[in-house]
Amino acid sequence: MSDLTADAVATEHPGAGNPAAPGGGRTVATAVPPSLVAKLAAGVTATGEPDLVETVAPLTGERLASLPRSTPADVEVAFQLARRAQTAWAALPVRRRAAVLLRFHDLLLKRQDEVLDIVQAETGKARLHAFEEVAAVAMAARHYGRAAHGYLRDKRRGGALPVLTHAVEARRPKGVIGHISPWNYPLELSVGDALPAFVAGNAVVNKPDTQTALTALWARDLLVEAGLPADLWQVVIGDGPVIGPAVVEHADYVSFTGSTRTGRDVAQRAAARLVGASLELGGKNAMLVLADADLDAAAEGAVRACFSSAGQLCISIERLLVHRSVADEFLERFAARTRALRLGGGLAYGADMGSLVSVRQLETTSRHVEEAVKAGATVVAGGRARPDLGPFFHEPTILDGVTPDMAVCSEETFGPVVSVYRFDTEEEAVAAANSTPYGLNSSVWTRDLRRGRTVAARLRTGTVNVNEAYAATYGSVGAPMGGMGDSGLGRRHGAEGILRFTEAQTIATQRLMPIAPSFGLDDKQFAALMTGGLRALKALRFK
Ligand code: NAD
Repeated sequence: MSDLTADAVATEHPGAGNPAAPGGGRTVATAVPPSLVAKLAAGVTATGEPDLVETVAPLTGERLASLPRSTPADVEVAFQLARRAQTAWAALPVRRRAAVLLRFHDLLLKRQDEVLDIVQAETGKARLHAFEEVAAVAMAARHYGRAAHGYLRDKRRGGALPVLTHAVEARRPKGVIGHISPWNYPLELSVGDALPAFVAGNAVVNKPDTQTALTALWARDLLVEAGLPADLWQVVIGDGPVIGPAVVEHADYVSFTGSTRTGRDVAQRAAARLVGASLELGGKNAMLVLADADLDAAAEGAVRACFSSAGQLCISIERLLVHRSVADEFLERFAARTRALRLGGGLAYGADMGSLVSVRQLETTSRHVEEAVKAGATVVAGGRARPDLGPFFHEPTILDGVTPDMAVCSEETFGPVVSVYRFDTEEEAVAAANSTPYGLNSSVWTRDLRRGRTVAARLRTGTVNVNEAYAATYGSVGAPMGGMGDSGLGRRHGAEGILRFTEAQTIATQRLMPIAPSFGLDDKQFAALMTGGLRALKALRFK
């Protein structure tokens, strides 16, 4: 972003601005020293001449790490190593593999401070928001550690001929999963999504975003300490358009989280190879505040919904739809809370919102705000970049009077900006919420829980939270999470989140007689016998 842009927005909206959080005292350089970077960097599969790729710490803009860059040839090596390790791993009983996840759960909770520092150093987010990742990964580790056996065990199915056909549905690992993850939730989206793949008997070649590779490498080391064979999780890093397609090229299945645009490219490449893919993509999520909502709870929930990880959260809310009768009152309470959020804070708890991750995110955020204001929108809170706190900070921002011609109305900002819209009827609110090609997450606030669930059923999103922002559905790890429409294909969590990493195999054993004319029956007699049998099976309510 040019200084001109920041200044222009700042001048247009003078005011006190959000307060700064007290500093944490520790610096990124002491929390993530070069010795730690070097130890973690050794986990990257990169065999050729050292070609380094640099990352910066968003909180300060200082250099954070130099990491070896993988080449497409390295990706091939990674798949070879992973494939070799996968055979022995898949031969272990599920309970032995699940035990690794449960040990990992305990180690992660014990050593969380180490990774909170790394996540904060790489993303600039507030520590509380980094902790959300620790909690999400622990939940996934516990769930799949305990439930994998049930999901994966052989299941008896009705055979072609009762008693005579013994049919079993079995689950086999896909092999090596190509796992491509973004920077915004680097712990959850690297290891959290890989855990069900491992417990199902697969190896993983992971391409994290380079900016947040240290977090993935730390998680890999911890999982190895918990008992995962080291070669089973390969990490490759480098430019997305170069290394990403190389990963898809070799994968037996692709698990991708990122933007809708890149997701389409990944889907086409996977389709050309006839390998499956799950795609967790972008959103333009809506929160509905119904007339009977508890306005304090809704205002407090909206802060979490819109500004966690500075809005760089796929399931965060960018559209607030409020019943006209309570809109002014709600907005007043929401704006007061938003203006009071403390920004910054360094590597310690105490800040309510951190930095954006990069100049690119700051540019999009500032552009959306600036263009909307120029076209007539009003800034209710925030509205400015905050270079006084760090190079990529932006205030949590509420816009009113946004119209469909403004980019912020329909494009994903992926920053701390929310627009407020008023509605008169539930019908209108549902139609507005659904008026986007995306379909990831939504949130409904009402004192009438039954009504909340009825409205939820009409929303076209993969998850709907009633009286919560996003954590209620995301934390319900036994139930699927993912997007409809342009927000993706497939689901993480629950049965779908692990079965996607398996192939179904049906083994049917025929006993006593074939399913064909036999025992002296001619074709006609066999057909007549079968016809009688089929009628009987239906009458006896066989499924
Ligand atoms: P992105 O699509 O630019 O990058 C995601 C990953 O794909 C990165 O590792 C990147 O290096 C890699 N990549 C880039 N080009 C590639 C290519 N041609 N082939 C294969 N891989 C390639 O997304 P981003 O900006 O890093 O992440 C933000 C986006 O992710 C937002 O749209 C957000 O909504 C979405 N997201 C979705 C979820 C979800 O669960 N639905 C979760 C987090 C983020």
